[in-house]
Formats: sequence, C-alpha cells, structure tokens
Amino acid sequence: MARVSTSRPRRRTAKDQPGRDYPALVKRMERLIEISHTLASTLEQAKLLRQIVDVARELTGAEASSILLLDPTSDELRFEATTNMRAVDLEGIVVPREASIAGWIVSNSEPLSVADTRAEPRWNPRVDEMTAFVTRSILGVPLIARDKTIGVLEALNKRNGSFNQDDLTTLQWLAAHAAVAIVNARLFQQSDLVAEMVHELRTPLAALMAAENLLLRPEMTDEQRRELVNTLQRETGRLAQLTTDFLDMARLESGRARFTVERFDLSELIAECLDVLGPQAAERKLELTVEIPPGLPGLHTDRDKLKQVLLNLLTNAVKYNHTHGTVDVRVESAGDRLRISVADTGRGIAPQAMARLFEKFYRAPGSERFADGTGLGLPIAKRIVEALGGEIGARSSGTGGSTFYFDLPMGPLPAEPRAN
Ligand code: ADP
Repeated sequence: MARVSTSRPRRRTAKDQPGRDYPALVKRMERLIEISHTLASTLEQAKLLRQIVDVARELTGAEASSILLLDPTSDELRFEATTNMRAVDLEGIVVPREASIAGWIVSNSEPLSVADTRAEPRWNPRVDEMTAFVTRSILGVPLIARDKTIGVLEALNKRNGSFNQDDLTTLQWLAAHAAVAIVNARLFQQSDLVAEMVHELRTPLAALMAAENLLLRPEMTDEQRRELVNTLQRETGRLAQLTTDFLDMARLESGRARFTVERFDLSELIAECLDVLGPQAAERKLELTVEIPPGLPGLHTDRDKLKQVLLNLLTNAVKYNHTHGTVDVRVESAGDRLRISVADTGRGIAPQAMARLFEKFYRAPGSERFADGTGLGLPIAKRIVEALGGEIGARSSGTGGSTFYFDLPMGPLPAEPRAN
C-alpha cells in the first residue's frame, strides 16, 4: 500500500536532490515567465505554435520540438508545428492514436520520457519517415486546457545526456501556458464578430491611408484636397460608428451588457429621440409624426437601452427615406404589452432581404448607395429587445416603405396614477 505522509513538507534545498541544477532551473523559470506573457498575447495560432516549439527546444536543450494537436472534429492527432519542418510540409501529417508515443500521451493525459526509441515498444518508426527526422530520445507532455487534453508538446533528442526531471518540469510548465494560449487563439479565430470586425475595419482604413497618401502629393489641386479631406472625415466617422457598434454587439453577445430597469414616461423618451433625429430629418425635408394613446402608464424597463433601439429604427427610417417622405412613430398598448412601431415611406425592403435583416453585418443590396451603415444596428436592436423580454419584427411592401415594430412587456410595476 502506498504510504501517505501527513507530516509538514520540509523546504527543499539543493542538498535534497543532488542531481538538480537549481540556478539553471531558476534561469529557465525566469525565461518561462517572460515567454508566458508573449504567448498570452499571441492570437494567431500558427505564430503561437512556432513560438512554443522554439522555446521548448531552447529550454530543454533538445535538437527539435513538435506540437501535435487533436482535431476537434475528426479527433485525429496531427503535427501542427515542429522546429525542423516548415508548416506547409506538415499539413495533413496524421499520427496514429493507437501505436505512437504522442498517441499514448494524449490517451493517458500523462507525460512520457523515452531515453532510447529503439528499445521502446510504443515507438512508431513511421512517424520519423513522415517527418524525415531521426528520433533517438523523446520527452512528451500533454497539453491540457480546461481539463481537456488538446494535444502533445514534445522535445526530441537531448543534446547532452538524457532528458531529466528539470526538463520535465520546464516542459510541463510551458505546456500549461501553451494550452491556454492555444485555446484562446482558437476562440479568437472562431469568433465571427472579431473576424468580421477586422474585415470591416480594413475598408475605411484603406480609404484613409489612400487619402492621406494622395494629400501629400504636391500636384493635388485645392478642389481635390477638399474632396480628400471630405473622404477622411467620412471614413473616420465610419470607423467611429463601427467601433461603437462592435463594442455594443460584443457586450450584448458575451452577456456583459448591463441593464438598469427604471420607471419612466415613454412619450418623453420618444420626444428626446426625435430631437436627436430632427436635423437629419429636416435636411431630407421629412415629416415626423407621433401617435401615443392617452393615459399610457409609465414604462418599467431599461430607458437607455430602449432609447438605443428607438434611435436605431428612427435613424434607418430617416436615412433610407426619400426626400419629402414621412416617418410615423406609433405606440399601442394591448393588455400587459406595448407595441412601438416606426413606419417610413422610404426605399422599402425586397422580400429576399427581409429574412436576413437581423443578421450581423447584413445590408440589403444597394443600401450603400443610399446611406452609410455597419449592418449592426438591427442585430443590436434585436438583442436588446429580446433581453428586455420583447420581440422585434419588420414588414415591407418591397418598394413602398417599411415598418419596424417591437413588443415589450409593460413591466411589473403598477401603472403610474396620472394627475388630471
Ligand atoms: P445599417 O447600419 O446598414 O443601416 P442595420 O442593421 O440598421 O444596418 O440595417 C440593416 C440593413 O437593413 C440596412 O443596411 C438596410 O439594407 C436595411 N434596412 C434597415 N432599415 C431599413 C429601412 N427603414 N428601409 C429600408 N431598408 C432598411
């Protein structure tokens, strides 16, 4: 039976373990701490894996190092990076799970040190053939993140002597940081919002850079310069709007958006929104009307978020409208629910676009000729309305204007007594 010591552990000294080189180990740990910051901030997976294998080789005094990762969909174990091969040449190299050292480490979630591969039954010579490398000794540790083994980190062929306890400690420490960094990089890449964000930011940034370069040219006329400054202003405005929308969307998607419920007068809120939109509406010579049933009780919900929804719908009703058109805001109450609708006489929405209106980044074909936009206003509005316990929808005849509406619960508070 295994003995379990219950006495207090003694502080270890160099004398306890004569084979260990403590100053060298401290140096390694310092290097590991330094590298852990770099790993944590590297979100591009290929670059991250290269950094990990380079450090693993350096710190364990090995000739080479490799990372193999489990494919999340097929469960195959693949080489993803090695210090001795280019990433492109590694593509598609699958290592058998049953008969290989890496396969054993992944299946058992345990480290393994092999001093001489020729005497090791789990050693599979096919792996060397695939990578054109002669492996004599291996130290491998599992990459574990959130209690799941996601792959293996290996150091191959110790340069002097054989892999020791310090090498194992170092590789395990590195693997712990590497696994978290790999999972983060994957999450980053999977997040369509971030990928789309990067994509969306490129266009205004490219326009800004082009305009800047042109402005520096001496042959530009004053007229051309004015136009370029207009472009700079428009594109910086677009970047600012994109940034705000991305942040709002990211907060709503990750559940970090804060909701504060209060009781307030809806007609006041609508008036505030129309004030904001007033100048834009006047520029297009639009008529704005509001219809609110008399005696409407105070609404009990998040005022700022509701304002954001209303402003999104009203902004669209104004910017996709024709000159001299109208925008009608209507409030109806039905039992314990309230319906707010915003109807416009604008360009309308084609039936095939209707189904996609609330998708992130979706813009109906031709919208860019009408107005600037990010394609995030409606998805943000939908998330807010749903978080407030409501539903949002739209209808359009196709060309003769559109109506956006949402229902909200009136809230748990009793109706505010109105002074007559
Ligand atoms: P955007 O910033 O592009 O306006 P939204 O998410 O608010 O993004 O809207 C998505 C798309 O829905 C718009 O690009 C436009 O094609 C269409 N749309 C929204 N509101 C209207 C409207 N009132 N009239 C016509 N099309 C609209």
